[in-house]
Amino acid sequence: MAKYDRFSWREKTTLIAVVAAASSFLAGLMLPINRHENHPSILLSATEELGNRNKDKSGTDINALMAQRDEAFNKVFAQLQQEEKDRNLTFSVPKAFQGKVFQEVKLNTNQKVIALTFDDGPSPQGTLQVLEILKKNNIKATFFMIGRNVKNFPHLAKAVVAEGHAVANHTWSHSYHHVNETGAAREIDRTAAIIYEATGVKTALFRPPGGYLNNGLVAYARKKNYAVAMWSSDSMDYRRPSVPVFIKSALKGATSGGMVLMHDGGGNRTRTVQALPQLITEYQKRGYKFVTVPELMEMQDKEVKLAAGKK
Ligand SMILES: [Zn+2]
Repeated sequence: MAKYDRFSWREKTTLIAVVAAASSFLAGLMLPINRHENHPSILLSATEELGNRNKDKSGTDINALMAQRDEAFNKVFAQLQQEEKDRNLTFSVPKAFQGKVFQEVKLNTNQKVIALTFDDGPSPQGTLQVLEILKKNNIKATFFMIGRNVKNFPHLAKAVVAEGHAVANHTWSHSYHHVNETGAAREIDRTAAIIYEATGVKTALFRPPGGYLNNGLVAYARKKNYAVAMWSSDSMDYRRPSVPVFIKSALKGATSGGMVLMHDGGGNRTRTVQALPQLITEYQKRGYKFVTVPELMEMQDKEVKLAAGKK
């Protein structure tokens, strides 16, 4: 008993209080980690017990304070997650491409890259089959969707986005007729709205139906700062060619920075689905890697900026 008496009662109380406060603080630091990982731990209950004891002593509700801090943490965490999600679901285009029509991007690098593009979906006749082939080959492609189809098959549009592919606007009704600005707005804005409603995607990428540049649609898209992506290779799969003819057409004009036109919608897509695996192999044999159209634009943009920086 005597040897403890070198500390006064007051000193002992202070020491206990300091140790309790320090361990409470340390345990509190680790508490959110345990909670968010869903691992209830001994530490958690110990901390809460400590909190209760502290409440008894000082009248301060440490548990309430910790809950408050957890809530603030969760809020920030959820916000960061949402921002990350929005970033992944937004296909914006670099300034150099806004309001521009392009068939390919210009790249100086030695690496060969090309974008596979699929128009007129989403469709029960081809979208899921194409998605499966792309997944098997670990390829991300770009889907130019028709608004009307997104409305009818939202689950297919969602599947495209869930697989990490890029999405673009291909008008509401795929009409070739001339439209005035109101008509063009209806075709393009409505499609943008339904794509967003179904998938959460915002896209600044457009391709005119049939590739028609002068019927009012492209004029409106350019005014709205869309990048108008055409193509450099055409599979001509809308003619439902044999596999060898499909491959030959889709390889014609192959160039790094190019875009290959195919269809996952707009009718029977058996031939496209049949030929796609072989086309992928043929491009790979020629040294090509596959990227999305937004990635192509980004690559050119980076090269241009890098070159400008070196001057
Ligand atoms: Zn089309």
